[in-house]
Amino acid sequence: MITESLKASELHKIDPVFGQISFDNHEQIVFCNDKDTGLKAIIGIHNTVLGPALGGTRMWKYTNEWEALNDVLRLSRGMTYKSAISGLNLGGGKAVIIGDSKVDKTPEMIAKFGQYVNSLSGRYITAEDVGTTTADMDLIRKYTEHVTGISESIGGSGNPSPVTAYGVYMGMKAAAKYKFGSDNLDGKKVLVQGIGHVGETLVDYLTAEGAKVVISDINEDRLKEIGNKYGAKIFTGDDLYSADVDIYAPCALGATINDDTISRLKAQVIAGAANNQLANEIKHGQMLKDKGILYAPDFLINAGGIINVYAEIVKYDKAEAMRKTENIYNTTLEIFDFAEANNITTHEAAFKIAQNRIDLRKKELAK
Ligand code: NAD
Repeated sequence: MITESLKASELHKIDPVFGQISFDNHEQIVFCNDKDTGLKAIIGIHNTVLGPALGGTRMWKYTNEWEALNDVLRLSRGMTYKSAISGLNLGGGKAVIIGDSKVDKTPEMIAKFGQYVNSLSGRYITAEDVGTTTADMDLIRKYTEHVTGISESIGGSGNPSPVTAYGVYMGMKAAAKYKFGSDNLDGKKVLVQGIGHVGETLVDYLTAEGAKVVISDINEDRLKEIGNKYGAKIFTGDDLYSADVDIYAPCALGATINDDTISRLKAQVIAGAANNQLANEIKHGQMLKDKGILYAPDFLINAGGIINVYAEIVKYDKAEAMRKTENIYNTTLEIFDFAEANNITTHEAAFKIAQNRIDLRKKELAK
């Protein structure tokens, strides 16, 4: 046995799960292994104080298990705060399947994963994420009711991206009101980085309101298509971050706000859909504050998707999901006020408000 060959001091140094850098008092970590289908998955349940832990299943070609474990720890924690700040009765969870979704995924593997989700009796509810599809969720539904994001034809809510875009638009309008004194985006110069599922709908809302939209993407064909469709200008300069715009909307990838980019930013507002926009939440949140750039916290304004799937658990009603998403406008303003009153960053303010909600509920449950 491995443990017999290691000294107690060596074991202590390893701390393979609870000692990981992303471990944040997660409630439960479930390792799923099925030799027959090749399934290797980890389900992370960060916190269930507000409700069952909901979060998507990501299938990714991780270079090693540590990377997969840290990803599930980090992502499940993020879901706790996203649901808490959005006023949803949901906890935070996430799952990762180790493998290349284009090569390794099989129906048998996904079916087996569905059985693992079912074994948790609803403590964890899954959904689509990078590397998984609505069709995968439909298959999982055959093995468990604890799945969201299934097809509309079988009672699901379908693609969440348009709802996410609506929430980002609401958050951006709230930020404009706070920074420029009006939430009217007519004439405002907005740079949308990444015009995929969310980015396109955002461009649609913005151009309809009369904003001067500049778009950027690594996909040239997509740029031409969206540029023509909405009359948006394609960014052509050398340095995207120093573009002369009022608002920067990161809708492609995370960590674009970092040591390198902050000094170059001309935009006075940052409001976009990408997850984990700040490379370092504390340091870069503070740098933005010092520079007077108003940052609308990503996990708040991109919550339309989770609001939409939450509605599926209760009984899906699109109008109700849109109404709740619209409320992101009010929550964003409350966070800006709280941040200013307490002289903290907007990111910290959002975290504090979310944590307060969890702590209050915990006290109620203990009574
Ligand atoms: P998507 O994959 O449909 O679109 C991403 C777009 O970004 C693509 O067009 C891609 O070509 C482009 N892109 C990739 N790298 C780029 C780069 N370096 N520079 C410029 N463009 C680049 O993804 P999506 O569903 O639109 O999501 C966008 C972001 O929002 C992601 O970070 C995602 O995690 C986050 N998000 C999405 C949802 C949702 O409901 N889809 C919910 C919450 C958060």
